[in-house]
Amino acid sequence: LLVGSELRKSFGPTPALDGAGLMVRRGEIVAVMGPSGSGKSTLLHCLAGIVAPDSGTVTFDGQDLAAMRDRDRSALRRGAFGFVFQFGQLVPELSCVENVALPMRLGGTRRKQAEAKALEWMARLEVDHLGGKRPGEVSGGQAQRVAIARALVTEPKVVFADEPTGALDSFNGEQVMRLLVDSARETGASVVLVTHEARVAAYSDREVVVRDGRTRQVELVS
Ligand code: ATP
Ligand code: MG
Repeated sequence: LLVGSELRKSFGPTPALDGAGLMVRRGEIVAVMGPSGSGKSTLLHCLAGIVAPDSGTVTFDGQDLAAMRDRDRSALRRGAFGFVFQFGQLVPELSCVENVALPMRLGGTRRKQAEAKALEWMARLEVDHLGGKRPGEVSGGQAQRVAIARALVTEPKVVFADEPTGALDSFNGEQVMRLLVDSARETGASVVLVTHEARVAAYSDREVVVRDGRTRQVELVS
């Protein structure tokens, strides 16, 4: 479904990505692991079309992201991709339900319809009672559930999650991961999950390790 190959990207003299590649099949949950600074986030940003690689290609459903017009790439990101980051991703001025409805509102859905759908997803993630609160008024774990609801509300084909449980304690981290994985399975979404915690990676179908900007498949020892 999503294929990145031979990706290279430098910020200044040292390469962040040095020939990394990753293939994500439909409905597959892939964990991207590796030490701090190894290039995990940069890889995710390239795959999601947020950062343009210096060289190499990313194709989604056979379409080369680099060959697309900017507005088509933005439309693809809005329609087919969902994002969950470590923190600071919800708009603080908006209520939680407005945050979840935001991707639909940007896509032109009317407020009432968008907020109704937003509340459905919030209910699945057990945060619908927090709809009227602002992100600053809810706990970290609740905010991540709201963020997951927002990432899934458009029923994306691929969810990109960069350390989604990084700011949570292990109990909340487990719950958030389970909700993310269950929701993705339910909608058939693929997940690219960046994490440095083996416990979190255990929720994936497959693990890939990034080291010095290069990817390595992990051989599963059974
Ligand atoms: P972490 O686990 O700490 O999040 P990471 O594996 O996600 O690390 P990246 O954020 O991809 O690592 O960074 C890879 C390298 O690229 C690092 O050396 C980093 O300093 C550099 N880098 C990443 N983004 C930028 C940027 N916007 N400007 C300059 N350098 C950057
Ligand atoms: Mg990172």
